[in-house]
Amino acid sequence: MQTAASDICKSVLRELQCPACKQYMVPPIALCLGGHNICSNCRPTVSSCPTCKQEFLQTGNISLENLSLQIKFPCRYSNYGCQDTFPYNGFREHEAICGYSPQTCPVDYMWLKMVCTWTGISKDVKEHLHTAHKELCEDYNAQHLLLLPRSNDSLYTYKFLFAFNEIFCFRLIIQCGVMYFVLHYIGAAKNDLKYQYKIMVSDNEDTESVVVTHLARSFTGIEDQSFFPKNCLKLHCDHLERFKNKKGKLPVLLKILRFDD
Ligand SMILES: [Zn+2]
Ligand SMILES: [Zn+2]
Ligand SMILES: [Zn+2]
Ligand SMILES: [Zn+2]
Repeated sequence: MQTAASDICKSVLRELQCPACKQYMVPPIALCLGGHNICSNCRPTVSSCPTCKQEFLQTGNISLENLSLQIKFPCRYSNYGCQDTFPYNGFREHEAICGYSPQTCPVDYMWLKMVCTWTGISKDVKEHLHTAHKELCEDYNAQHLLLLPRSNDSLYTYKFLFAFNEIFCFRLIIQCGVMYFVLHYIGAAKNDLKYQYKIMVSDNEDTESVVVTHLARSFTGIEDQSFFPKNCLKLHCDHLERFKNKKGKLPVLLKILRFDD
């Protein structure tokens, strides 16, 4: 009986697959004169039915829409191990944060010559970074002290930081007397606005300081070369000269903050 029920579910799910994009269709589901369906994402992109070239009707496929309201949808990453199922209005939201979504190694995106060919699922990224790129990883303890080098020569450095059970990448670039900071949030793009970071530079007596706060930036923007420097936090090396310690190094405090939900 169990098998029969799950067979029915599988057939319904097959019917609910959009013929154009292969994603599951949820209301509204468009219907053509020839009886074919298409999802609401694909509908605006076509003028007639891609299967039979006939027009779409004004009304949707009500019986299929009703079925889609009854059934539980598997996550699109079920092939990678996700066992979760969701009602029609929940699975897209889940997929955006699913720990089984396929990922490549974040090191590969950091404009470096270093190439890592690792691919896996998002929930394994942290472990991969720890095992394969240990020297680039640091545990973040409420605040993070960076000791910058004595000279203001060009510099490009980055570290992966683990805070709030999330992965961040902190990058620092010094170029032509300007320091550029950026904190990337490595995770589902929809969560990136939850985090901000604060850069604090102060003198030994804490009488003078520079404090700047910025939003963490989603990892996905990195591929865009125009990302740098417009989304970075900028400080002029000249202005920071007086904050250097006796050894000529500049102590910079980095604090990662999370907005409450
Ligand atoms: Zn579609
Ligand atoms: Zn058709
Ligand atoms: Zn999932
Ligand atoms: Zn890697």
